[in-house]
Amino acid sequence: MTQSSSSIAQNRAEVLARITVAAKVGERDPQAITLIAVSKQQTDQRINAMLAAGQLVFGENKVQEAQAHWQGHLERVEGLRLHLIGPLQTNKALDAVKLFDVIETLDRPKLALALAKAMDKSGRQPDIFVQVNTGEEAQKAGIAPVDVDVFIADLRKNYEIDPKGLMCLPPVAEEPAMHFALLRKIAQRNGIEQLSMGMSDDFETAIAFGATHVRVGTALFGARGEG
Ligand SMILES: *Cc1c(COP(=O)(O)O)cnc(C)c1O
Repeated sequence: MTQSSSSIAQNRAEVLARITVAAKVGERDPQAITLIAVSKQQTDQRINAMLAAGQLVFGENKVQEAQAHWQGHLERVEGLRLHLIGPLQTNKALDAVKLFDVIETLDRPKLALALAKAMDKSGRQPDIFVQVNTGEEAQKAGIAPVDVDVFIADLRKNYEIDPKGLMCLPPVAEEPAMHFALLRKIAQRNGIEQLSMGMSDDFETAIAFGATHVRVGTALFGARGEG
């Protein structure tokens, strides 16, 4: 499938329209929901078409690939906001802090320490979200639900990191609603306002459960890894 600039603009308009409907159904303000265009494994041409359509918020899951996209060919346009939505290694913390405006995947004390140091060194203060492994999957990043309250308290007390949001990536084979409900409950009891949840297949459900950020890739750009 090829994606022309006009079809990318049209995909975006359709996704935004669906966000608006889902918000109204849930009696929420559509403006309170941010669409993150997930540009991992997409060509510069498609990303440029998305920028031309007016999209300013993008998500990437790897630091190096994001650097190639956003410090290489593409201009850093005014108002651009980049979210890191993939796992972060401690040795890439400084690069991540320099490039991203929001880091959504803090999930362990060692990384909190690396990020705190990187923020000190760079003078940059990206917003930090905590990733929660709501499905308790062994292979998946994120802190376990039973440990998250203590972790958030530790971030505030010992690392001067006050998380702005929570993020989750539910197990593929499960109904996502219970995971979204769990993430919202954890956020409420910890006084955290933002929720990054929902992807191409389930962003409307996520909005029903209070998502403030939806991370949408294929529904906007088409399949990954194709020109
Ligand atoms: C790839 C990715 C997405 C987007 O997935 P789509 O199904 O293409 O919308 C969202 N969140 C994370 C963490 C991802 O890695």
